[in-house]
Amino acid sequence: MPPMRRTNIGRRTRNARNINEFRRAHNTPQIRQHVNIRRRSSDVALNRAAFEYDSAVAYNDLMCVDIGSLYIVCQHCKALKFRLETPGLCCSGGTVKLSVLAQPPEPLYSLLYGNTISRQLLALGNGHIPIDVLTGLISFPANFCEFTSSKEELITKVFPSIEVNYNNLDWISEREILAARNKEVDSLNFSIQSKIAGELRSYKSVDSTTDENEAVNYPTEFLNSLDVQGTPPHNLQVKVGSIIIMLRNLNPPKLCNGARLNNVIQSTIIKGNFKGEEVLIPRIPIIPTDLPFQFKRIQFPVRLAFAMTINKSQGQSLEVCGINLEFPCFSHGQLYVTSSRVGKPSSLFIFATENKTKNIVYKNALN
Ligand SMILES: [Zn+2]
Repeated sequence: MPPMRRTNIGRRTRNARNINEFRRAHNTPQIRQHVNIRRRSSDVALNRAAFEYDSAVAYNDLMCVDIGSLYIVCQHCKALKFRLETPGLCCSGGTVKLSVLAQPPEPLYSLLYGNTISRQLLALGNGHIPIDVLTGLISFPANFCEFTSSKEELITKVFPSIEVNYNNLDWISEREILAARNKEVDSLNFSIQSKIAGELRSYKSVDSTTDENEAVNYPTEFLNSLDVQGTPPHNLQVKVGSIIIMLRNLNPPKLCNGARLNNVIQSTIIKGNFKGEEVLIPRIPIIPTDLPFQFKRIQFPVRLAFAMTINKSQGQSLEVCGINLEFPCFSHGQLYVTSSRVGKPSSLFIFATENKTKNIVYKNALN
């Protein structure tokens, strides 16, 4: 007797019997629907079932229908399509033509590219804000910041009622005015400090050349006149309550026994891990490295810090920030750095001539 061969007839009857058993065991509307879908024999029918959504079908209960992956590109509208997707679902074979979507509408745009402020900052940082060809200046984007009409107004906006508030360490630590050059920073610091009541103390440094033989070439008066970045001034003028920044990392002793208070500055740390701690800052010798000759300045390693240069402010976040752009930024990305210290336009105050300024972005530096 020849061996029994599996035939299509046998398979069909087996399937039919299975379906009947299945139907008897699970005679629910969902299952009935499921069986109906399974019954549509051709691929086309199965695909149509997969793509035609029917709210009555519990799709979760159905067996997996493979609709392929999303890698077919419609030759008419360039839409991505599933492998087995019914043709013409996107643009009906090129008969439906949509206008080009240049910019997605809100809130899609914000979801894609961030909120208005971060978008404006990005445009600033990437140099996408149009530059006036005649002046070389840019206008700030709308609602980017609050403008002030003078330097004095800038100080008042950032440090309102400083004459009373300066003792509040939290208040004073969260605000700052930034400027591009040391000269503007010094002038701002001096103006702000003058609003605090109290006696102005003057601490003069002792300057000398490191090489004694050079002393004739570099008289003390000349050394005193040098104002080097990152080095304290020869004539440090501070008041009780002034904000200062440390120019050198020090680990000063917490108690300086027998030290006369004239020789140390007693300060409270207002930012960072040691906020609230009292420190005594001594005078130390400082040798600037970026000069063609060496000299030594013995001075408190501090500078006033109500205002700061933009480059020094990198990485800091502030609650209230003022920017003095009387003298515009002069190097790559400075305007971006300075504008991104605060997160909201109502806390960013800018003083710039005619509310315009320079935005220097070297495209090569970004690539
Ligand atoms: Zn299409």
